[in-house]
Amino acid sequence: MANKERCIEDIFIELYCFEQLKYLEIEKELNISRSEVQQLYDSCKERISDMQIIKRKYNNKKDLEEFKFSDFKEFYNWYKRQPNNCCYCGITQEDAIKSKVYDNLKRKTRGISLEIERVITFPKKDNVYSVSNCRLACHVCNNAKSDFFTVEDFKLIAKGINNFWSNKLGKRIVFPPEVYETFNKESNDK
Ligand SMILES: [Zn+2]
Repeated sequence: MANKERCIEDIFIELYCFEQLKYLEIEKELNISRSEVQQLYDSCKERISDMQIIKRKYNNKKDLEEFKFSDFKEFYNWYKRQPNNCCYCGITQEDAIKSKVYDNLKRKTRGISLEIERVITFPKKDNVYSVSNCRLACHVCNNAKSDFFTVEDFKLIAKGINNFWSNKLGKRIVFPPEVYETFNKESNDK
């Protein structure tokens, strides 16, 4: 039974969030009543509000020429697969907030969540938002890497930033290998 409910919730999410159908269309599509649609919405409320946060990130970027995700669904699925820590230095958003490092940022829109980072930034044609080129990065790393450094160049700096967080928090932050392995391998393949 729980499985069946989960399944209809998934279908509802698909129709409501990805296909953006109206209630009336969902009633017809699933052959259910308005109150059943309302019930589905209520039981999916948390997932929908989580999606809306990600949708805002998508909307902020989607009209950029360098934005190559095919649609919101692809972006959403990519986002949900990302680990909850900076791809370069390993800090989690929770620990970054706890450290109070962001408390004095002038722009209050920065540092509130991990940022969408384009790993390869040059040549320009490769500097795109896409499943393969994007990771999540902390505000400090995103800001520091800018468009100046390759992943390999940045590794040493990221180790310094990792140390900085570890000292601030009084615990060792694990340094993440994935981005260095993946992108180093790619450049070796060429
Ligand atoms: Zn970082």
